[in-house]
Amino acid sequence: MRYVITGASRGIGFEFVQQLLRRGETVDAGVRAPEMARRLEPLLHESGNRLRIHALDVTQGDSVRAFAANVCREPVDVLINNAGVSGQWVGLHELDFEDLERTFAVNALGPLRITSALLPALRHGVGRKVAHVTSRMGSLSSNTEGGAYAYRMSKAALNMGVRSMANDLRRDGLACVLLHPGWVQTDMGGQDAPLPADDSVRGMLRVIDGVSLEHSGRFFDYEGAEVPW
Ligand code: NDP
Repeated sequence: MRYVITGASRGIGFEFVQQLLRRGETVDAGVRAPEMARRLEPLLHESGNRLRIHALDVTQGDSVRAFAANVCREPVDVLINNAGVSGQWVGLHELDFEDLERTFAVNALGPLRITSALLPALRHGVGRKVAHVTSRMGSLSSNTEGGAYAYRMSKAALNMGVRSMANDLRRDGLACVLLHPGWVQTDMGGQDAPLPADDSVRGMLRVIDGVSLEHSGRFFDYEGAEVPW
């Protein structure tokens, strides 16, 4: 199967690439800046041409179009929209609206740009799945602590976008799901996070493997439990 992963330079995205290559899949990995692809380079040789690395900034239309032009030469089975940023975690009185807009551009609009651009290749694939790495922080009912405006609002917007996408793409037989990876040891999750990235990704891949149209438009954590909206 052929997988496309965004935000593959480090953290959860990098772990997705590693685990998928290990199980024999073909992976197209999007990295924001070419110099960030250094960690992926050893995998290029080890994987015997099953890994392709592409420049991709999910906020830039030109970058997304160039990425799609390369990737859409062949069918795509599974797209994993993983790239994300945390935005500033500041109080209501200290909001930086440029940071809010940047965070929305990556977390909420990025996955829409990518899915829309890759639709022709997804329609030709046999996997017919789009997984979006969101966060429980974007769940309305889980927000009892407030704060994290940029992150929470951008992920909540992503969640709504994916509900629409799931309804719209059902007729094409494409399933779209939202995944909460847990609190994961990455640059974003920090050192206090309890969950190693390999456990999180192993769990999310198990969930993605089991996804069919009946799961489309639903929100799961890395263990397969449904997350409340
Ligand atoms: P990291 O900060 O470790 O990695 C983020 C990745 O996203 C990097 O590869 C980064 O690229 C990429 N990225 C950021 N901006 C862009 C952009 N404009 N275009 C393309 N790629 C971009 O984060 P994690 O691995 O922890 O997070 C991955 C996903 O999981 C995110 O969507 C995050 O919100 C979500 N998540 C993470 C949790 C955690 O505890 N870690 C908890 C809940 C959700 P570059 O290296 O070039 O900056």
